[in-house]
Amino acid sequence: MIELQHIWQTYPSPDGKGTLDAVKDVSVTIEDGEIFGVLGRSGAGKSTLVRCINLLNRPTRGKVLVDGQDLLALDDAQLRTVRHKIGMIFQHFNLLSSRTVYGNVALPLELTGMPKDRIRQKVEPLLKLVGLTEHRDKYPSQLSGGQKQRVGIARALANDPKVLLSDEATSALDPETTVSTLALLRRINRELGVTIVMITHQMEVVKQICERIVVMDHGEIIERGAVLDVFRSP
Ligand code: ADP
Ligand code: ADP
Repeated sequence: MIELQHIWQTYPSPDGKGTLDAVKDVSVTIEDGEIFGVLGRSGAGKSTLVRCINLLNRPTRGKVLVDGQDLLALDDAQLRTVRHKIGMIFQHFNLLSSRTVYGNVALPLELTGMPKDRIRQKVEPLLKLVGLTEHRDKYPSQLSGGQKQRVGIARALANDPKVLLSDEATSALDPETTVSTLALLRRINRELGVTIVMITHQMEVVKQICERIVVMDHGEIIERGAVLDVFRSP
């Protein structure tokens, strides 16, 4: 379970004269195994909030508990262990252009010092899962957007995470590719039991895939609940 408690994030304001509260006293609980949505327009504070889950952002104030563990109290080595359990995918994929599909998926495992043959045993099933086995030796520039995102998904799963953070992962994809990417994420949730947190500005995305959502605006939660209730017509 992930608990974000009374999270505040204060940045210097763009004019340099004051401060900006990008997240204001937000509390959210995410259960194991669910697909949770954080919906809102650009600048609402979604990324800032969700990046507290792996401390890519350190909140100015508040508490971050993952399976009861207080992340802000951990030392660097402990934090590295927790981060391994949290994968992340991005709008613009963040692939290394100098590495093949295989090399991109293998990278997080290489960084742990895993031997090559064990890396292969992990990467091959992941490429199969995302349907890229026959593209393993291609470079990102040779792939479609949907294929690039599937590389990103396979890479995010390399360390066997319990949680996957998806930051606008379908926002650069066409509608058809969005549907197939969401279907893949749903399969990963069901078959691997991975908890998924979807950040998106696309209402259709949360309607298609999420069970519970929060809607953010100006750093605050303005709606929360089961997706069916939030979008129920009056
Ligand atoms: P969203 O993910 O909903 O688009 P963000 O969390 O990225 O929103 O941003 C929320 C607000 O915080 C925006 O006004 C943004 O400009 C500001 N912001 C985000 N990151 C930083 C940063 N590192 N420094 C200063 N301001 C930031
Ligand atoms: P680099 O040019 O840095 O080696 P690559 O993406 O070509 O980047 O490969 C990264 C790693 O993955 C290397 O250790 C390479 O030996 C291994 N590798 C690349 N392609 C394959 C493949 N098809 N099967 C097995 N291992 C591969």
